[in-house]
Amino acid sequence: MSDTRCRRCLLRELAEGAALYESVKAYRQELSEDTRTPDGEFEARLDLCRACRYLQNATCMQCGCYVEIRAAKKDIHCPMEKW
Ligand code: SF4
Repeated sequence: MSDTRCRRCLLRELAEGAALYESVKAYRQELSEDTRTPDGEFEARLDLCRACRYLQNATCMQCGCYVEIRAAKKDIHCPMEKW
């Protein structure tokens, strides 16, 4: 049986993640400006996740978080100190 897990994918790229990604977008919008990672930094964090061997099916295999949620708050960082 083949492995169909999507490595290096974000929720926004997974068909089955669409509803959850809408929740992530709403969650980001609800964060205060003091708390929310600015858009450019958010995308830069996600680019690093996409290139990381620990990303699997939108989830960081080091911390168990969906990376789009973990990257949303500027005071929360990568468990491997990549961002
Ligand atoms: S949070 Fe860090 S360890 Fe996890 S997938 Fe992203 S870059 Fe990799």
